[in-house]
Amino acid sequence: MDESRDGLRGRLIARIIKESDAFEVLYRRLQDAYTRAWNQGLEGAFQGALEELRARPRESVTASDARALLSRMEASLGSKAMRSALKGPVVELVPALYGAGGQEATSSAGVDFRFGQPDKNAAQVLAQGELHWVGNSWNTHTAKLLDKALMDYFERGMTREQLAQRMREDFAGLHERGQHYWTLLADHAATKTREMGRVSGYEQAGIAQVQVRAHLDERTTAICRAMHGRIIPVSRLRGQVDDYVAAVQRRDMEAAKRSWAMHSNDAGLQGVATGDLPANTGSPPYHFRCRTITVAYQGGAPEGEVDRWRRAAQDRRQLTKEEVGQLIERAKGARWGSEEALKKHAAKHGQDMASYNQQAVDRVRKGNRDVYLASQGEEPVAVFDEPYTNKRGTPKHQVTVVSLASQRILTSHTRPVLESKTYDVQPLKQPGRGIQKWLTNLLTAMKKSSTG
Ligand SMILES: [Zn+2]
Repeated sequence: MDESRDGLRGRLIARIIKESDAFEVLYRRLQDAYTRAWNQGLEGAFQGALEELRARPRESVTASDARALLSRMEASLGSKAMRSALKGPVVELVPALYGAGGQEATSSAGVDFRFGQPDKNAAQVLAQGELHWVGNSWNTHTAKLLDKALMDYFERGMTREQLAQRMREDFAGLHERGQHYWTLLADHAATKTREMGRVSGYEQAGIAQVQVRAHLDERTTAICRAMHGRIIPVSRLRGQVDDYVAAVQRRDMEAAKRSWAMHSNDAGLQGVATGDLPANTGSPPYHFRCRTITVAYQGGAPEGEVDRWRRAAQDRRQLTKEEVGQLIERAKGARWGSEEALKKHAAKHGQDMASYNQQAVDRVRKGNRDVYLASQGEEPVAVFDEPYTNKRGTPKHQVTVVSLASQRILTSHTRPVLESKTYDVQPLKQPGRGIQKWLTNLLTAMKKSSTG
């Protein structure tokens, strides 16, 4: 009996996950299930509370009434009630979301995702874990809200009629707050489960490395900007997934949270090399409502300078001094794309072409500027920066930006901060203040040792 139901469910999942919009469809279903359970629970709680009130003979509400109302509401919204309302949808949808992620990963290699035994086990653990979070919501979230409202009614010395009226009004607000909470929970369950499925899919497809792809726009968070473009070994993501699943399996929800960090800022990771990232920050989601995903990384080991600089920017790896020297040499050969481009930029910055050009070129050549590596799209760019403080005491940057692949000067101007939305990877400071200082130090050291 159970086996045939499992078989049917398996076939259904196999069919759904092959649809190109499988994730969207499944996610919406999960979200609907959560918000429906909440709304029905709330409606039930409200009706239950009214009945409870009617059964009480007193005119005004007492503290014991408030407590009785709360426990009556628990029957509709409590851990047990929500868990049983959501058991069916969660047990069906969590494995499907896992499979959708797996299928997305394997289809990039042209094969179908196989729901193997380890996947079935993981998906089952995740579904049970999800039901655990669902059940927790009463203890950590809802009960407090209701309790506060009910005690407030009691302290105001309301009559039963006033209370019924007041509850009707307040429940509209509760409805909305709950809707927000459950949507967040559904979103988190869906994206996290999908990414775990992806990891398994990458393994099946023999994909060893993935690239982090954030959705870059004005809503992109600092952590996703700090992670965007990085190339991460699948083995590393597997470690994180296994830690998470193991923690969920033993119901250690604190360990589960620790193994998969949800960040509220960039956590200081912008300049941290990929190899040095903490184990709890590998696979998206990196925060609640995260839109970042991973994709199979097809590139091999870097070939040639430009390739190496690209990878260094993506992996936030600092170049060696020798590499910085090579990068500067390359940048020194950079020219404006066309006379037209130079003319436009010079006019925009209110300078004549010759001196504007000279300034840009000089900034690349001279030794007393800082060198940064960034990327614009996939292209590595060098940012040559002369920081200064203007008359009003405001820090400013005079920068010249060079595309390393095309050896073109992209722009040269003054701006308040180095960071810019035009970069996919924000500028990372490279060793030494140019190569000049290093050379000077070296020469001084050599002189010292020869005289000593
Ligand atoms: Zn994000």
